[in-house]
Amino acid sequence: MRFAILASGSKGNAALVEHGDQLLLIDCGLRFKTLRERMAELGAAPADLTAVLITHEHRDHVVGLAAMARHTGLRPHMTRGTAHQLNFLADDFIPLAADGEFELGGLRVRPYTIPHDAREPVHYQLAAGDAVLSFATDIGRSNDYLLEVLGRSSALVLESNYDPLMLAGNPSYPASLKNRIQGGRGHLSNDEAAALLAAINRPALLTVVAAHLSDNNNRPELPLRLLQESAGRSGHMPAISVCPQGVPLPWTELP
Ligand SMILES: [Zn+2]
Ligand SMILES: [Zn+2]
Repeated sequence: MRFAILASGSKGNAALVEHGDQLLLIDCGLRFKTLRERMAELGAAPADLTAVLITHEHRDHVVGLAAMARHTGLRPHMTRGTAHQLNFLADDFIPLAADGEFELGGLRVRPYTIPHDAREPVHYQLAAGDAVLSFATDIGRSNDYLLEVLGRSSALVLESNYDPLMLAGNPSYPASLKNRIQGGRGHLSNDEAAALLAAINRPALLTVVAAHLSDNNNRPELPLRLLQESAGRSGHMPAISVCPQGVPLPWTELP
């Protein structure tokens, strides 16, 4: 199994997962033209996609979804709640049950519930053999269920949205938006991501990618340092990197 990130953050989210003859797109928060360009940089094309998994209805995750579905003929997988918010008709999507598991060509897919201010949001864990890849963004707070799900990961794409001081001091964010971001159904701060990593860090965890960074309230070196410190304290150091917004994160192969 290998994965790549096409975009991550409030300007758009999309990732690729490849295993055997499967090529999955997770979220489609890029306009179709940009999606095609960024896929091409990674040696792929929308026509190669075999399935599309959607997490929730927020614009930064679905802005290119309708065009992508039209061009590829694929019916995206999503919860009924997400489909309802997006006005997708029953024939136009494949409904999935949060916390159920299904298989796509040898890849076990587990959508799991995330605490986020959308109708019925999920994120995805994908497993094949010992490789267990978890995406965990758009999470207001950690909880025991998340720790249990994410604790199985060998690779983890983990939200590190904001630095609390930068957010608090940002004059262009109204209080209501600050409260939403910091709330239990908003986004994880760098500190919260580091605490989550400390709680699940095990020798099986090989790779951590900090993702969904705020352009305005974060700097890549902040989550990098906090996640490294967190891993260092627990005595096991996975490879830690940060996903930039504007360029694709190239393929990472999972053993
Ligand atoms: Zn969201
Ligand atoms: Zn988001």
